[in-house]
Amino acid sequence: MSAKVWLVGAGPGDPELLTLKAVRALGEADVVLIDDLVNPAVLEHCPRARVIAVGKRGGCRSTPQAFIHRLMLRYTRHGKCVVRLKGGDPCIFGRGGEEAQWLQERGVEVELVNGITAGLAGATQCGIPLTLRGVARGVTLLTAHTQDDSSLNWQALAQSGTTLVIYMGVAKLDEIREQLIAGGLAPHTPVAMIENASLPAQRLCRSDLHAMQDDAHAFQLKSPAILVVGEVAACGAQLPALSEAPLAAALSA
Ligand code: SAH
Repeated sequence: MSAKVWLVGAGPGDPELLTLKAVRALGEADVVLIDDLVNPAVLEHCPRARVIAVGKRGGCRSTPQAFIHRLMLRYTRHGKCVVRLKGGDPCIFGRGGEEAQWLQERGVEVELVNGITAGLAGATQCGIPLTLRGVARGVTLLTAHTQDDSSLNWQALAQSGTTLVIYMGVAKLDEIREQLIAGGLAPHTPVAMIENASLPAQRLCRSDLHAMQDDAHAFQLKSPAILVVGEVAACGAQLPALSEAPLAAALSA
């Protein structure tokens, strides 16, 4: 295999949500650099590769980004095929764009492989349709966490009419609630908080904007979790049991 870097999304956790292309890349890899949100179970697809953990969770022990860049460059210069394996999708809050650009500027061949991002997976696993005819005509993916002083236009978000899917929000529930209510969203707007989406440890906490911080506290919500804010967040809960209602009624509910 020729030297190159595959920037691969490993999906949200469930190994069955890996793409066929991700499996092919793993099969070709000499070296796999793995983030700590990646389920190690996916490594069964790269039995002959050298695996190096380069996790960098917010607030925890982390591998400097510059070191990861140099590692990828060094291996490709030795003719190796490198897979940089990231949780979810490499280009959704995953620095995939940055890493691809850095490598390409140094003449390294890069291929990006989509993964299912946690926000989409979490909602779907909980029966929450992020778009729904007549209810939500779009989705906005955002993070409440910044490393610079930039701020979000919360008012525009609140008034966008789209479902909001918020990453890295667990430590910012207070700010999210305040800003979205100040921006015009009703305090009783439904919120779903989904921890460990798609994993056996997945948990769902349903609430609304006003109560979400207290409810998350009582629920002991922990990272990694995503928040879904909008009318659709109330979906998926009230389907009648099939034994109590004809299938047709259940499907049209
Ligand atoms: N590239 C990743 C996101 C990385 S940012 C993706 O596309 O999914 C890290 C944040 O993603 C976490 O703080 C959390 O908000 C979210 N996240 C990642 N995996 C998750 C999971 N299994 N369940 C819930 N949220 C998750």
